[in-house]
Amino acid sequence: MKKLAAGNWKMNGSMAALAEAQALVAAHPAPSCEMLLCPPATLIAALSAQAKGTPLMVGGQDCHPKASGAHTGDISAVMLKDAGATHVILGHSERRTDHGETDALVKAKAEAAIAAGLIAIVCIGETEAERDAGRTLAVIGTQLDGSVPAGATAANLVIAYEPVWAIGTGRTPTLAEIAEVHAFLRARLQGLIGPDAAGTRLLYGGSVKPSNATDIFAVPHVDGALVGGASLKAADFGAIVAALSA
Ligand code: PEP
Repeated sequence: MKKLAAGNWKMNGSMAALAEAQALVAAHPAPSCEMLLCPPATLIAALSAQAKGTPLMVGGQDCHPKASGAHTGDISAVMLKDAGATHVILGHSERRTDHGETDALVKAKAEAAIAAGLIAIVCIGETEAERDAGRTLAVIGTQLDGSVPAGATAANLVIAYEPVWAIGTGRTPTLAEIAEVHAFLRARLQGLIGPDAAGTRLLYGGSVKPSNATDIFAVPHVDGALVGGASLKAADFGAIVAALSA
């Protein structure tokens, strides 16, 4: 399985930010891991055109479950694919919180993504209160069961474990805590999709940065990272790519 370094620019970046992606590719023209940036929707077509012929892949941050229709402001998986995207992040905790996304909606979106030929990166993670209450595995198990799309395989699904309290906070779980969750997810996924679970990338996300990437990538069943803040700067994301390629 090739590991995956995925960057989520969230609602950051204008056309000028494409220079960061160019610098990233210039510094890492042939990484041994996969390298993905998910910019705002306004930049997907331009970044895809810029990245053509390079190892950099481009993804969306959300899609609608329908392919087209009267859904003002939404973007379909088919449109993302048409714009050059290969992946789409779904069920990020900010969307679950800001837009009330449920597991069922995330699953429907992931099914639309797969039908459009995209790789679905499905995000799950517990809140701090849930962790403190000892409910982490119960919560993420329920999210996984409810969000994994029908027809999922190692080729079209990536799972991102992102503790909500670790996103953008500079705090991370201990390596033992990450190991516990990732081993749990691998086993639970086996029950959902069968033998393909062994080859499905399980990303860790939440305050990954150059200084902690090497340690996190050494944890069993961590097959890459979903990176927010540190993906905005080519030097930082490049260092994470290098750590994953080592
Ligand atoms: C994210 O939003 O997916 C994320 C992991 O953010 P950060 O790396 O900034 O914590």
